[in-house]
Amino acid sequence: MNNFSHLLLQWYQQHQRNLPWRNQTDPYKIWISEIILQQTRVEQGKEYYLRFIQRFPDVMSLASAQEDEVLKYWQGLGYYTRARNLHSGAKYIADRFNGKIPADYDDILKIKGVGNYTAAAIASIAFNLPYAAIDGNAYRVLSRVFDVNLPVDSQKGKIFFAELAQQVLDTRHAGSFNQAMMDFGSLQCKPVNMDCENCCMANICLANKNHTQHSLPIKQKSIQIKKRFFYYLCICQDDHIYLQKRLPKDIWAGLYEFPLIESETELSWEQIMNTPYFSHVLSHCLFTLEHISPVYKHQLTHRLVMGQFFYIKLHQGAPQWPPEVQTISKDLLFSYPISRLMETGLGNMPSFHTDQ
Ligand code: SF4
Repeated sequence: MNNFSHLLLQWYQQHQRNLPWRNQTDPYKIWISEIILQQTRVEQGKEYYLRFIQRFPDVMSLASAQEDEVLKYWQGLGYYTRARNLHSGAKYIADRFNGKIPADYDDILKIKGVGNYTAAAIASIAFNLPYAAIDGNAYRVLSRVFDVNLPVDSQKGKIFFAELAQQVLDTRHAGSFNQAMMDFGSLQCKPVNMDCENCCMANICLANKNHTQHSLPIKQKSIQIKKRFFYYLCICQDDHIYLQKRLPKDIWAGLYEFPLIESETELSWEQIMNTPYFSHVLSHCLFTLEHISPVYKHQLTHRLVMGQFFYIKLHQGAPQWPPEVQTISKDLLFSYPISRLMETGLGNMPSFHTDQ
């Protein structure tokens, strides 16, 4: 087993990626980078990380910011709970630890949005504490090198891999070990097209020996994808437009969007006009439908959102909006944090291009 960590660290010395959050031990920057990387590819994450760190260079600057601004800096990254958790985590660290991230695994774990993996990454990289960080890369590498066919998403599998990772961890270089695992899984032992012929582990890798690498790691659950149809009413009256803030406990909570009719099934424009919401809101108004966008697909982990935008010009009358809908000047639209789906819809809609 020690051979494994020796080979891994040796590989890392030669092949480690040059990333903006590397080669430093600032726990704040490691925290931000790890949260960004949870559901974002490294290439896309780099740019967001640099912008985020430039605007919020430390815990205190993030803690004192407005949530709308934090979300604006996160716009396009998706999974916005991460940004809200970072914000409340920063407030917690500011209040509880005077703005300094504590050098203790259990204390780090209490920060909102920080799970075992992130806590281990921060503790090991920033403070060199001996905790193995286990993400998808670690599950893949370990299941292959030790040819383990326990499902990585089963309770038994999680316990087994946590113990295995802790056993093979080089405790003197815990931070480098964890980062090496991330890079090795991303560059060498990839989900598909892994390069076994030119791999430093080829001689000790049991999956390579047993030809099982293509079926590892094993997962027991296949994710059920649910479809949601979002029909956005982009209603324009003179220079004004209507927006609402998404509610907590749903996707894109806290982001802004046009008033929306949601359905579990596909709807036509005629069906949308006949919904109680639409009939009520525009009952005394004179309007024309100027444009219908294509249906945009937006894939999330457990859902597929199908979004369509209806550009409506209001000529007369006042819509009967529910209280959450606000009127804003069209020019200010792009200063609000919005989802990638809203951005796509706006970017492709006549007279709503992002350079306005
Ligand atoms: S030999 Fe193949 S399966 Fe084994 S660690 Fe290397 S790349 Fe992964």
